[in-house]
Amino acid sequence: MTSPALVWLRNDLRLADNPALSEAVASGRPIIVLYVLEESGGPRPPGAAARWWLHHSLVALGRDLAAFGVPLVLRRGAARVQVPHVAADCGAAAVYWNLRYEPGGAAADADIRAELQAAGRSVESGLANLLASPHEVATGAGRSFRVYTPFAKALRARGTPRHPLPIPPLSRAGGAVAPESDGLEDWSLLPTKPNWAKDFAGEWNPGEPGANLRLDTFVEGGLRDYRDGRDFPALAAVSRLSPALRFGEISPYQSWHSVGLAAAADGRLDGSAEKFLSEILWREFSWHLLANELDISTANIQRKFDSFPWRYDADDLVRWQQGRTGYPLVDAGMRELWHTGAMHNRVRMVAASFLVKHLMIDWREGERWFWDTLVDADEASNPANWQWVAGTGADAAPYFRIFNPTLQREKFDPDGRYVRRWVPEWSPECVAGKGRRSAPLLAELEGGQYPAPVVDHDMARRRALDALAGLRPGEG
Ligand code: FAD
Repeated sequence: MTSPALVWLRNDLRLADNPALSEAVASGRPIIVLYVLEESGGPRPPGAAARWWLHHSLVALGRDLAAFGVPLVLRRGAARVQVPHVAADCGAAAVYWNLRYEPGGAAADADIRAELQAAGRSVESGLANLLASPHEVATGAGRSFRVYTPFAKALRARGTPRHPLPIPPLSRAGGAVAPESDGLEDWSLLPTKPNWAKDFAGEWNPGEPGANLRLDTFVEGGLRDYRDGRDFPALAAVSRLSPALRFGEISPYQSWHSVGLAAAADGRLDGSAEKFLSEILWREFSWHLLANELDISTANIQRKFDSFPWRYDADDLVRWQQGRTGYPLVDAGMRELWHTGAMHNRVRMVAASFLVKHLMIDWREGERWFWDTLVDADEASNPANWQWVAGTGADAAPYFRIFNPTLQREKFDPDGRYVRRWVPEWSPECVAGKGRRSAPLLAELEGGQYPAPVVDHDMARRRALDALAGLRPGEG
C-alpha cells in the first residue's frame, strides 16, 4: 500500500488556496491531515475567545475533509513531539505544511523539519497565509521596514499577488488509515461555567464555508460603502473577515482577488477596493514587524518608552475591561468585545488609546485583555496595533496625539445608534464632570445608572503629556 502524505495544518484551516494540501494531493499519495494544539514551545497559545473559534473551525474542517474520505487527526502537546510521532505512526513518506512566521512557530518548524528529514521523510512547505514572506520584503539597504507606507509600496512593487488555487481533487486522496486522534471535546476549548460565549454563535459562522459566504456578502454589499463607511461602527461597511484570516479559513489571495475582480467589473468600487487592499497590507506589515522585531508583544519597539511611568490601577483596569469608564464609545466597544469577541476598528483605536493615555495603563495590559477576548486575536496584528495606538511603535500615532473619546463618539456615532446598542442605560443627558470616585464606591452609587467618567478628559490629557515630556531625550 502506498505510504501516505501527512499535511500539517496550522493557521490555514481551509481546503481551497492551500498550497500544502494541493501539493500533497498532487503527489498521488493518500492524505492524512493533522492539527496539533500547541500549548507550549511554539506560537503564543490562543486566548479564550480564539479557542472558541478554533473549536468550531476544526469541526467545520473535519466535516469538509470527511466529505472526501480524508481523515483529520487531532493531537495536543508540543509539535516537536507530536508531528514526528504521527508521521512515524502512519509511515508518512512526506510531510507538507504552509510556512508560518511567528518566532516560536518558525523555530519549532525548523527543528521538526530537521527531525523528519533525518528520519528519511521529505518535507515540503509553501507560502499561503501572507502575500509575501516577511523576510523577503526589504529596504534598499536590505533591512526590514519599520514604516508602513514604504513597506506597502515595496510589496505592491512585487506585482499582483498570484491567483488563488482551487480545492484539489481530494476524493483521489481519500481512504488512508489514520493513526489515533484525540477527541475535540476532550480539548475543552469551549467555555462552560459560565458560558460567556453564548452570544458568539449568533454572531459568527466559523469554518471555510462561513468565511467564503462572508467574503461574498461583503463584496456584494458592504464593499460599496467601505471607503466612506468603514469608520462608522453602526454601519455594516466592513468585512468582518479578520477571524477567518487569522485562522486561515480564507487566504489573503482570495480576499485580494475577489475585491479586485469586483472593482474591475464596476469602476465605482475602485476607491473602496483600494482602501480594503491597503488594510490587507496592514496585516502584512504587522507580520513583517513580528517576524523581524520578534518580541513586539512584550517590548516597546521605541525603547525610550521603557522608562515611561505607567500607572497600575486595578480598579481602573477592571472598569475599562467591563465597559464602565463613563465614556460611552469606549464602554460600548468594551461590551461589544465581551459579548461578540470582536470590536469595530475605529472603536478599538479609541478604547485602546483611552487605556494607554487617559488611564496611563501600560499597553501590554490592554494587549493581553484583547488577546484573551478577541476571536481574531492575532500574534502579529494585536501587539502591532497596540504599539501603534500607544505611540511606542516605530511607525506609530505619536503619543502626544490623544483621542478625545467624546468628540470621537460625536463624529463616528453621531446618532448614538452604536452606543445605545451596547450601553442602553446611556443617554446624552448622562453628562461628564461628576468627578472621579473610587471604583467600589461608584459601583454602589451607580445602582444601574450609567457611571460618571472615571477620569476627567482635560486632566488626563495634561497628565499624559507631562509624563511624555518627562521621558529622557535621545533614548530609543
Ligand atoms: P476590514 O476593515 O474589513 O479589513 C479587512 C482585513 O484587513 C481585516 O480582516 C484584517 O485582516 C486586515 N486589517 C484591517 N485593519 C488592520 C490593521 N489595523 N492591522 C492589521 N490588519 C488589519 N486585527 C486582527 O486581525 N487581529 C487582532 O488581534 C487585532 N488587534 C487589534 C488591536 C488594536 C488595539 C487595534 C486598534 C486594531 C487591531 N486589529 C486587529 C486591527 C483591526 O481592528 C481589525 O483587523 C479589524 O477591525 C477587523 O475587522 P474587519 O475584518 O471588518 O476589517
